Amino acid sequence: MENFDVIVIGGGPGGYVCAIRAAQLGHKTACIESRGSLGGTCLNVGCIPSKSLLHSAEMFHKANKEFDKIGITTNGLSLDVSKMMSHKLKTVDGLTKGIEFLFKKNKVTYIKGHGSFASNNTVNIKNSDGSDSQVTGKHIIIATGSSVATLPNINIDEKVIVSSTGALALEKVPNKMVVIGGGVIGLELGSAWMKLGADVEVVEYMDHILPGMDREVSDSFHKILKRQGMKFNLSSKVNKVNSDGSKATIEFEKDGSNNILEADVVLVCVGRKANTDGLGLENVNIEKDEKGRVKIDKHFKTNVENVYAIGDVVVGPMLAHKAEEEGIAVAEMISGKYGHVNYDVIPGVVYTHPEVASVGKTEEELKQVSIEYKVGKFPFMANSKAKVNDEADGFVKILADKKTDKVLGVHIVGPDAGNLIAELALAMEFGASSEDIARTCHAHPTLTEAVKEAALAVDKRPIHM
Ligand code: FAD
Repeated sequence: MENFDVIVIGGGPGGYVCAIRAAQLGHKTACIESRGSLGGTCLNVGCIPSKSLLHSAEMFHKANKEFDKIGITTNGLSLDVSKMMSHKLKTVDGLTKGIEFLFKKNKVTYIKGHGSFASNNTVNIKNSDGSDSQVTGKHIIIATGSSVATLPNINIDEKVIVSSTGALALEKVPNKMVVIGGGVIGLELGSAWMKLGADVEVVEYMDHILPGMDREVSDSFHKILKRQGMKFNLSSKVNKVNSDGSKATIEFEKDGSNNILEADVVLVCVGRKANTDGLGLENVNIEKDEKGRVKIDKHFKTNVENVYAIGDVVVGPMLAHKAEEEGIAVAEMISGKYGHVNYDVIPGVVYTHPEVASVGKTEEELKQVSIEYKVGKFPFMANSKAKVNDEADGFVKILADKKTDKVLGVHIVGPDAGNLIAELALAMEFGASSEDIARTCHAHPTLTEAVKEAALAVDKRPIHM
């Protein structure tokens, strides 16, 4: 039985990053992954394949609908979905292999198999070749992530009724797609297939899309998606989805009446659940919280000595970069260093076109805790680079403390919002005021000038509006 200083169960962004950092800090480290490839949900069936699809779909859409406006003619444009999927798989394959390379470089032992607790320092492994083995570790980190959740009475067959995983691998563009759930993943994938030609209709339980995001941003994004052709049924409760193997019917309740939709594909995006089954938590009495996630303290420690947990399997936003930060922090903490994650500054991005990005508090959150704030807003319509690119939908909105001017939150709908938000996250990490951003020279012509102008608008002195 091989002994390690650190054993990480799960090779997603939380787990593999944690393993690399632990090895960098001098620990003999192993990472156990059952999927057959590293990178977890993110690289295999999440962030990366969805962004590949969104990018390809947007390129097709632009060539199909927008090139003509600027004098580029595309006669004979056609779509080869299988080639698009091959490109996606090639990207995923390259990136997952890249992590194997990083493991070798950092001397992390990659164990291909399923791990479960035998005791607080011993892990049973069902190896990918069918054999059984055990490893022991001084520190064990649970990074087993999450998987698709569904609703009662819905059987996902990944053909007609699909989860995000099936929606990333459709063989052809459906004529009609119904998306259950107007959250980030449903809107991203719905948007990708819409740009490829599908008629997309969303059914959402809440009275608005993107629950948890700043309401003004969510409302504005809703309008933009509607203008792009996406249809919405809000405040709608799905009761049943039936499939005859080639088509599906979706029954939902709205304003007290029953409604039926038909679709070629139904995408179920109602959330994700923590992966704790088959992990042997009961063998060591590791506690879970009310949502079935592994319970941890502020230092990622479970109730069992030397067992930690990070990423989607614990509380917090289910985001790859949050998992990575926690992976690094826990590796540093067990090395006696100061690992820290600032949960007030975790950006969130929706990778549609336009994108939505946000960091820090929303207006609703500030109101709830009675913090007085100022708002600075600037529309991309008045930004020269956005006009040049003909991508002028949306705005930047900065929320700053009324007394101190410290930036408390930033919310963007607009082109490249996911990249723009990085400046604001950095500013918030440094405790910047809106005045600091307003007085920073931003290159012209860039989209970043909209950020500067929004900061100027906090003090009611924007130049270009
Ligand atoms: P995971 O990535 O889920 O990795 C856990 C790994 O552990 C898995 O590979 C699993 O096979 C393995 N495992 C589980 N149990 C065991 C066991 N007992 N033994 C061995 N191995 C085990 N996040 C973003 O930040 N940006 C995005 O753009 C984004 N897009 C997304 C799009 C989609 C369609 C989906 C589904 C998710 C997306 N996410 C995105 C979320 C992101 O993928 C997750 O937050 C992230 O992968 C969580 O990382 P993790 O390491 O905690 O878990």
